[in-house]
Amino acid sequence: MTERPKTLVRRTPWPQSSSRAVGTPLQPSVVYASESPDALDAQYEGRTQGYSYAREGHPNADVLATKIDGMEGATGGFITGSGMAAVTAALLGCLKAGDHVVGGDQLYGRSMRLMTDDLPRFGIATTLADPTDAAAIERALRPETRMILIEVVSNPTLRVADLDGIARLARDRGILLAIDNTFTTPRGVRPFDHGADIVIHSVTKMLAGHADVTLGYVAARDPEVRKAMLGCAVTLGLTPSPFDCWLAERGLYSFELRYDRAEQNARALADHLAGLPRVKRVLYPMRHDHPDHNRAMSLLNGRGGHMVTFEIEGGRAQGNALVQAAKNIAFAPTLGDIGTTLSHPATSSHRALSPEYRARLGLGEGVFRISVGVEPIEILCAEFADAIRAAADVAAR
Ligand SMILES: *Cc1c(COP(=O)(O)O)cnc(C)c1O
Repeated sequence: MTERPKTLVRRTPWPQSSSRAVGTPLQPSVVYASESPDALDAQYEGRTQGYSYAREGHPNADVLATKIDGMEGATGGFITGSGMAAVTAALLGCLKAGDHVVGGDQLYGRSMRLMTDDLPRFGIATTLADPTDAAAIERALRPETRMILIEVVSNPTLRVADLDGIARLARDRGILLAIDNTFTTPRGVRPFDHGADIVIHSVTKMLAGHADVTLGYVAARDPEVRKAMLGCAVTLGLTPSPFDCWLAERGLYSFELRYDRAEQNARALADHLAGLPRVKRVLYPMRHDHPDHNRAMSLLNGRGGHMVTFEIEGGRAQGNALVQAAKNIAFAPTLGDIGTTLSHPATSSHRALSPEYRARLGLGEGVFRISVGVEPIEILCAEFADAIRAAADVAAR
């Protein structure tokens, strides 16, 4: 018999090192080998700490979750495969048939769809109400209301919720208050400090910050609520990829720098836009003409965030011209990238709504939302001024 070629490669342990990697190692392994059935028992019974199967947890997710926990003042938060997976874990993990949930009436589009189209199929009823008015939320409550889900700052009109008023209501009635903190980030507000029970993030946006990762995060104050959400996430397969977690954690190190720069830019760009001809209105919470300016000053501590919404005169033709003229600004339905992006609610985030409902929200064809990035502000001001002039030229022709 001829000798077997020596090309067989076997699985071996990771090399030991007395020095440690400074950059976070990436651990893509799906499975983890245990020493014995006894060792596995100890792990499942919580007497030792260890991983078994990546859908149930892995180091890159834990490293990322722990860092976001620190930012939010949370413990035991976990990472999901998308922001929507985090919303799903919160809703499906905590609610059952017969329950009722109240949502903000300007929630992220898919969160709204989950509540109005999907939850009813499982016997869970939803009412939407205006979160800038705690009395409106109170009127929507029923004896079987189990959760309130709101965002602190709404998309794209940047209305600021009465977080403290709603938290008081929720506490008095024993209703879980879930806050999607994606727009505000923990640099704007830490919802647990205001009485939230659950905090949700689309890590995809400002936290990861580079438009190359889709991830979510969810944490709860009560360990029982956490357990219910995590169990649901693991069963439904909402858990994340190690590489995405690795990328997001890498992005997190520059979060403060990116956020502060983008916010400073947003403030200056909002004022610049407001001074341009053909700009009908500018929405930015730190501006005195914003309807929730006072609440933003107290709740957000004067932090206006990196989102600016503005409206130009005209319709689709002017909108097309504006986008085409702004060649260096990606026209893309996202936010939180290090580079400035521009979106058009009427054809993206709010396209599922009827034109009448959009008009009621003040979201006509001329409305654009900017997710302001970290570019030098003079460049942004010049590019937007040029683009708005190009839109106005169409009108003049
Ligand atoms: C983007 C977003 C989501 C959904 O996050 P994905 O990561 O895209 O699934 C949820 N809530 C808000 C406020 C968002 O902006």
